[in-house]
Amino acid sequence: MKKIIISLIFVGCIFGGGYLTKQIQYHNTTEYKLLTKGYTKEQYHTLKKYLNEQQLTSLLNLDVESEILNLVSMKDFKFNHLERYLAYQGPKDVQEKIHLVNADIDKLNIPYHESMIKFMDATYYIKDHMERYMAYQQSHSDLTIDEIITNVNSNLDYDYYTNIQDTDLSKKNLIIVNKYYKLDQNYIPELVSIDHAGHQATKETAEHFNEMIAAAKKEKGYTFKVNSAYRSYNTQNSLYQRYKNQHGFAWAESYSARPGHSEHQTGLAIDMVTSSSTFDNFEDTKEYQWLMNNAHKYGFILRYPKGKEHITGYHYESWHYRYVGKEIATKIHDLNITYEEYYAYFIK
Ligand SMILES: [Zn+2]
Repeated sequence: MKKIIISLIFVGCIFGGGYLTKQIQYHNTTEYKLLTKGYTKEQYHTLKKYLNEQQLTSLLNLDVESEILNLVSMKDFKFNHLERYLAYQGPKDVQEKIHLVNADIDKLNIPYHESMIKFMDATYYIKDHMERYMAYQQSHSDLTIDEIITNVNSNLDYDYYTNIQDTDLSKKNLIIVNKYYKLDQNYIPELVSIDHAGHQATKETAEHFNEMIAAAKKEKGYTFKVNSAYRSYNTQNSLYQRYKNQHGFAWAESYSARPGHSEHQTGLAIDMVTSSSTFDNFEDTKEYQWLMNNAHKYGFILRYPKGKEHITGYHYESWHYRYVGKEIATKIHDLNITYEEYYAYFIK
């Protein structure tokens, strides 16, 4: 009998002790702590499905919120952004909120607006421009999302010749020069002659130009006449001043570039017509049509196209071609966009 009692006590101790140890161990688990914090068992299992142990533990430092349960199961949810998702006074839609915070929109000093998602989904959206898109939309509510993006990417939310930057010369053949990007007064590219009249351009421009006109000659018997190619800062200055004196400021501004802002100073631009046409009627020639279909194959783009005057800031110029290289000229030709748009989205 004594033996039996001792045995029972012994067994009881083992089981009881085991139970106690288990209880203590369970109290140390994240599960227990989260339940104590206020999560239900069901909520805990949802969290566990999406979060690892370390992430679950860090939930102990946050208030219990049903929003957390909504967030964790969403596509593109990032745990390290959790507190920002929770703090962002953005859209009601949780998936959209994740989308915006992941793109750092919550860090901008602008209130949430439903257009934000539309901008982000647009083809040529540039992240750094969100504040400018939103501001531009306020004053241009008649424009579509894509139009706003095009205009802001082309800097049209700034007045011409304001917010001027030195152009990035490291872009070489792809440098941009317009009413917002300028070249230094002393910038002179390495030049070679492109014709017997003494017009000059960069070596690469000249080579491809000659290749292009040789092809036009061979295929169709067409010939072209260069009107202007490289122009120095000083030449541009005289030209602009002369236009201003002859036709007035507004005319000079829309037909000519201020010195430092002419693409002709890059050595990458060539104005050309045929021997029997002028700037005014070059667009009616077969030679022009040939260029429209073929110039990109030699690396040239029509720099100031018809219908894009508001983007380029210049009247349509059927005669002005800009060398950018074959691959990019083809892309611009196929996408049917201006160099302003291309530069902002693909190069800058
Ligand atoms: Zn020109």
